[in-house]
Amino acid sequence: MKNTKHIDIVGAGIAGLTTALAMAERGHTVRIFEQSPALEEIGAGLQLSPNATRVFDTLGLRDDLADVWYEPDHLQLVSGLSLRTLARLPVRTMSRDRWKAPYAVIHRARLQDVLMKACRRFSSIEFEFGKRIETPMRGDADVTVGADGVWSSLRRTVRGSAEPRFSGYAAWRATMPIAELPASFSRTDVTALLGPGAHLVIYRIGSETINLVATIPEHRSEKGWNLKSDAGRLLSAFKRWHASIGIVLAKAEWRHWPIYEVADASWRGGDNTILIGDAAHAMAPHAAQGAAMAIEDSYELASWLDRTDIETATALMRFEAHRRPRIRRVGQRGLLNKFAYQAIGPFRLGRDIVFTLRGGQSLLADLDWLYGYEAG
Ligand SMILES: Cc1cc2nc3c(=O)[nH]c(=O)nc-3n(C[C@H](O)[C@H](O)[C@H](O)COP(=O)(O)OP(=O)(O)OC[C@H]3O[C@@H](n4cnc5c(N)ncnc54)[C@H](O)[C@@H]3O)c2cc1C
Repeated sequence: MKNTKHIDIVGAGIAGLTTALAMAERGHTVRIFEQSPALEEIGAGLQLSPNATRVFDTLGLRDDLADVWYEPDHLQLVSGLSLRTLARLPVRTMSRDRWKAPYAVIHRARLQDVLMKACRRFSSIEFEFGKRIETPMRGDADVTVGADGVWSSLRRTVRGSAEPRFSGYAAWRATMPIAELPASFSRTDVTALLGPGAHLVIYRIGSETINLVATIPEHRSEKGWNLKSDAGRLLSAFKRWHASIGIVLAKAEWRHWPIYEVADASWRGGDNTILIGDAAHAMAPHAAQGAAMAIEDSYELASWLDRTDIETATALMRFEAHRRPRIRRVGQRGLLNKFAYQAIGPFRLGRDIVFTLRGGQSLLADLDWLYGYEAG
């Protein structure tokens, strides 16, 4: 017998919208509370790996997304000092052939548009914009989902949860017209330029625009997602890199994001509150998996809540126990990437040799556990 549940979701980000869709698809009713009066055009590019795009396939969004995302040919690992290519990972063909789902890059706002439009097709999803929620609403909800991001308010109501802590890094982000990117940089690949203490990732989002993300150490720890920035600090972090990188960096208008992480701690409050996405486990973007984990969380939470053979509190407990090891493993992979990408001295030489000898296909095959994952 179907047991229709009513779900309150706090936050209409990627996690909140995906959860709403996955619950509504299964016949449940949803109310989403979003503090902003409308969805904002903040942020820029996101890489969506096959473990995330597979969820969107299952939700029937592949065609809508195919119009607005781009599938890069390769992930290129390039020395930021010499511009020598260390490895070219054939991500387009391997994603489609090996993991049966695309690897795509997309503007965050376009992804949110597609999710929002899909939500609007369900009369069982209601939105309340301009409504900030600090604690679970009293009322008829069976479950309150805290999808309210790294600065989650709901998390404060969860006993044993962790406070965000500054990672010691900031992500600097910019976009530029594709025509302004020097010819020495690929327009069809995701290029990760690796160098001492920093890395820079470049890829196109859409047909006209290039997205740039630089990750550098930072001592300051302002809160915020989209801070206007004097690029002096950024330029000085790259001053010993190849000259053409300095030219690219100087052309763009930068915003910066101090990176905060949420440590491994409780995600469940009482019998009916659960945190997902960045509210539960914000991670530094070294593995480009924060949104992907939010998307997997959303789909798997809906599967657990749809079960009619277990109580809601048990479903939430099992969801958390099921997701936690994967989130930990992805976090560890991010640390490994950071170490390899930003290696110095003998570690850098060792890294370059390993990347060159192993080749792109074999490096990608290491990620079966990550990209081949089927959220269910
Ligand atoms: C520089 C950078 C690059 C990244 N690149 C990638 C990438 O390539 N691939 C990838 O997978 N991930 C990437 N990430 C991570 C990704 O952006 C996040 O993990 C993802 O956006 C988390 O989604 P979310 O829905 O959990 O939270 P958010 O996107 O933060 O959404 C939270 C929503 O809740 C709302 N809200 C907050 N508080 C309240 C409240 N009290 N009441 C009501 N509403 C509230 C907010 O307004 C917002 O709409 C990157 C992150 C950074 C910083």
